[in-house]
Order: sequence, then structure tokens, then C-alpha cells
Amino acid sequence: MTNSTIAAISTGLSPSGIGIVRVTGDDAFGVIEKIFKTKSGKNVSDGESHKAYYGHIVDGDKIVDEVLVLVMRAPHTYTKEDTVEINCHGGLTVMKKVLELVLRNGARPAEPGEFTKRAFLNGRIDLSRAEAVMDLINSKNDYALSNSISQLEGNLYNEICEIREVIINNTAFIESAIDDPEHYSLDNYGDKLLIDVDNLILRVDKLLTTFDNGRLITEGIKTVIVGKPNVGKSTLLNNILGTDKAIVTDVPGTTRDIIEENVNLDGISLNIIDTAGIRDTSDIVEKIGVEKSRENIESADLVLYVVDSSRPLDSDDESIINLVKDKKCIVLLNKSDLPSVAEINHIKDIFENVLYISAKENIGIDSFKDLIVKMFFEGSLQYNDEICITNARHKALLDECIDSLRLVKASVLDGMPEDFYTVDLMNAYSSLGSIIGESVEDDLVNTIFSRFCMGK
Ligand code: GDP
Repeated sequence: MTNSTIAAISTGLSPSGIGIVRVTGDDAFGVIEKIFKTKSGKNVSDGESHKAYYGHIVDGDKIVDEVLVLVMRAPHTYTKEDTVEINCHGGLTVMKKVLELVLRNGARPAEPGEFTKRAFLNGRIDLSRAEAVMDLINSKNDYALSNSISQLEGNLYNEICEIREVIINNTAFIESAIDDPEHYSLDNYGDKLLIDVDNLILRVDKLLTTFDNGRLITEGIKTVIVGKPNVGKSTLLNNILGTDKAIVTDVPGTTRDIIEENVNLDGISLNIIDTAGIRDTSDIVEKIGVEKSRENIESADLVLYVVDSSRPLDSDDESIINLVKDKKCIVLLNKSDLPSVAEINHIKDIFENVLYISAKENIGIDSFKDLIVKMFFEGSLQYNDEICITNARHKALLDECIDSLRLVKASVLDGMPEDFYTVDLMNAYSSLGSIIGESVEDDLVNTIFSRFCMGK
């Protein structure tokens, strides 16, 4: 197989200490020989692999930059092809100039994700690991990062392979028995198969249930702030964010737009949405906001219900309580710097997590943050070494797989002939195969890698 030589700037396109231009492919060494001069005048491609060489990138007689060139011979490289990394100075002009030289001397520009695509096509990593590379680059918090590293280490890959092995062993046995009934007996095979299939359904289902948590990990916990107008929602948001982004006024109903912000609490990423105050209103613009906040509550992972503790509860509070009481919710009794008037016991009867705070005076905010971290760290998030599905493509394929396995189970229970089992077993097998990139269509592979950033 011949691999054209590709190149890209692999570091960020902003001025920095070092910038890396990466070149990979059959002619990577040929390209570098034309533009790189070491002090000793030796050719780097004759030297030892996985070494850094000091010298200059030159355009004819002109020195372009002083660099270190990392030379890595196939197959022990990211792409399994000859690879050269030019560590030049990280100025935009320098990096572009070096890349331009590389391109003029035999390489072509890499497409987004093409290095990782080659790692996949050349068999160094499976597709689930290639996708984990992208997740890793895009990780917004510690949990997302550890999860993508775990997938990169092949945890998902291994689990998928183990499940596939059970499926293929059963299929092979059934096929052999059908072909060669003298040596293989299918008597009572359905019972044995049923045990295996039930076990596999449990395993796939376990992976699927991690998908919701997976979403929390990659995108952040969808957190919605609700409460009547003027209770201090915007003040709270500003307090958490440490900025003045939300408009704080004492005119009820001024938070009309939905404000969305991302905050990071000890590695947990919260996507906070401040909604318009919920109350009956005749103002059309505000009404849209109110509608939207009801929708947001529906889909929220966590609701922060802010109450003005210096005022009695009223029928609007009752409506909000009804909307949020079945959600994971923290009630914040705000304005604790003022005398408490609201019927707190009523709230405590309904909600488990109730805290006094003053958003304005910064009282109780630390305890509130600690509570969030505790809830998600110890409780619902259940983040340990468990494999977490974070990719919608993987989820859809696991859904397909579990459907096929359920069909196998139904066929066994209905006493269908054995050759019925193998069709669905093989469907389950190939759904799992698509997760790790076996027998996937070229265009799917292209779509996946085109979502990568440049130079990866
Ligand atoms: P929202 O409509 O719920 O977003 O409420 P705002 O954040 O705009 O606050 C409404 C009013 O309540 C403003 O005048 C704030 O300064 C005031 N406020 C907010 N939090 C507190 C607090 O903890 N204590 C006191 N005394 N006033 C507060």
C-alpha cells in the first residue's frame, strides 16, 4: 500500500513558544531532507529513529527557522507511517512558512483528522479509540478527559470484543452443527444460548445506561435556575460566574432572554441556564421566555429553585414546586441576610436539598457548590472506572445490537429452528463491529474523521 505524504500544523494557530508541523507518509523523510540542514550535514533519515535532531529549516540558501526535528520511522509511529515532526518557533508566519515549504517539497495538506484516520486505516487503533482521540481533544472537564483516556486505552474496545466473541462462538457452533449434525448436536442448545444471550443483553444494557451519564460528562450537567421574578436568580448566576453577565434589576421580569453559561466546579462542568421568572404574564416576549423555561426544566439534569426567603410563598411558588418536585433539585432560600418570612418547613417537607444563601452578600455559596460536587461526585454521576458511552453513534449501534439479541431470545423462546438464531446473532455482531470500525462504509469513516480538528 502506498501512502501519500501529508502535512499540517498540529499545534494551535496562535502565537506560542513552539509550533509543530507534522509530516507523515511514504516520502516524509524525502521531504525533510530537502528542507532541513543539521549542523553536521548528515541526513536525518539515515540516523536513529525516535530522536530529535537540531538544525535549520532552509528555503534554498535562506534560513527560515531554527528547529528541532523529531524523526520516527514506521511502523512505530502514530500513523504507522514514516513521520517527521518539525518543532519550530510558534509564530503564525513561521509555522505557515515551514508548512508551505513542506508542501512545496512533496507533501499535500492533510484533511482534518487525517493523521488519526491513517492510524485507524493502518490498523493501529480501532474506530472507538480514534473517536476517543477527538473526545480527548474536546474534553471540557476532568471527567470527560479521564473517560476519553479510558476509551483510548481500549476499555470500550475490549468489552465490545468480549461480547462479540461470545456471539461468534455461538454462531459458529450452530452453523457447524447444521452442516455437520453427526459431530455436533444442537439438542437443548436453545437453553444454553438463552443463558448467554441474557447475559449479553445485561452487558449491553449496562453500557447503554451509562450514556446519560456520558452526556453529563462531555457536555456538562444541564442546570436550570428557576424561581419567581426578583428572587435573585441573576444575582446568583453572576455570583457563581464571578461576572456581571446577567442583568440584575429590581423590576420583576427583566431576565427575558435565556442566558446560558458554562462553569467548572472542581472538574464538574455545569451548563447553567437562567430562565425568565415563571409567573403568569401578559407580556408576549416574556411569555415566550416563560414557555421556554418550562421546556428547559423538563430536560434539565439539575434544577436550582431560588426562593426569596424574605417573602411569603404564594401560588406561583406552588406552580413552580409542582413543576420541579420530581426533578433533581436544590432549593436555595435566597436573601438570608433579610428576616426569613417564607414557610420553609413546607419546602423542607417536599425537597431533600434545601440551603439558605444570600447571592448578594455571598453567604452560603461555598456550601452550595460543595453540595453540587457531592451530589454528582458521590451520587448520581457514579463516575469510577466504569466504561462510559459518550458517543451517539455508539449508542445507536448498541441499541441495534440489543434489539437483535432480544430477537434471538424471542426465537429461542418461540421454539424456532436454530438457523433463525444465527441471522440475528450476526446482526448483533455486525452492529458491535461498526463501533470498533470493522466493516464500516468508507463514507462513514470519512464523516467521522472530518469532524476532527486540523493537524490531528
Ligand atoms: P431575578 O429576577 O430573580 O433574576 O432577580 P435579580 O437577581 O435581578 O435580583 C432582584 C433584586 O433582588 C435585586 O435588587 C438584587 O440586588 C436583590 N437581591 C438578590 N439577591 C439578594 C440577596 O441575597 N439579598 C438581598 N437583600 N437582596 C438580593
